[in-house]
Amino acid sequence: MLKFYDYNVTNSWEVPNEVCLNFHLAECLNRCPGCFSPELQNSTDTNLVDVFEDLLLAYSNRITCVCFLGEGKNTDYEHIEFETLCKKIHSYGFKTCLYCGRDCRIEEWMRCFDYIKVGSYKQELGDLSKKTTNQRLYKKENNVYIDITFLFWEE
Ligand code: SF4
Repeated sequence: MLKFYDYNVTNSWEVPNEVCLNFHLAECLNRCPGCFSPELQNSTDTNLVDVFEDLLLAYSNRITCVCFLGEGKNTDYEHIEFETLCKKIHSYGFKTCLYCGRDCRIEEWMRCFDYIKVGSYKQELGDLSKKTTNQRLYKKENNVYIDITFLFWEE
């Protein structure tokens, strides 16, 4: 069961050229050294599905995309929850994004997302804003994921 920690709305921060309603998920298992949000490694009492639709409707007049930061415990059940949520988001006409903190390729269950970020946070390489980063943001175009990480980099 995906657990909700908190949310915010950002413009071109998590995803270039998108206004995102960001759901910060609890129970992150990645344990990156130097984790910028260690509170997300704990659990909470709130199930994401219980707060999701009210927040989506509350911000529907100002967002273009819904972003999930974290993937919970990365179980099959949670993958199905993500798929259901993405269908709902797409039905409202918004795009979807997953911020996965693991060092992995794009996995089959992730293909419901229009944007996918992969890669653990490594202090010595920096986050997505640094050209040295190991992290990557992909955008789905014609069912193919294109690396758009360069859009974060300052000239
Ligand atoms: S993925 Fe993010 S929240 Fe999870 S341990 Fe790494 S930096 Fe922290």
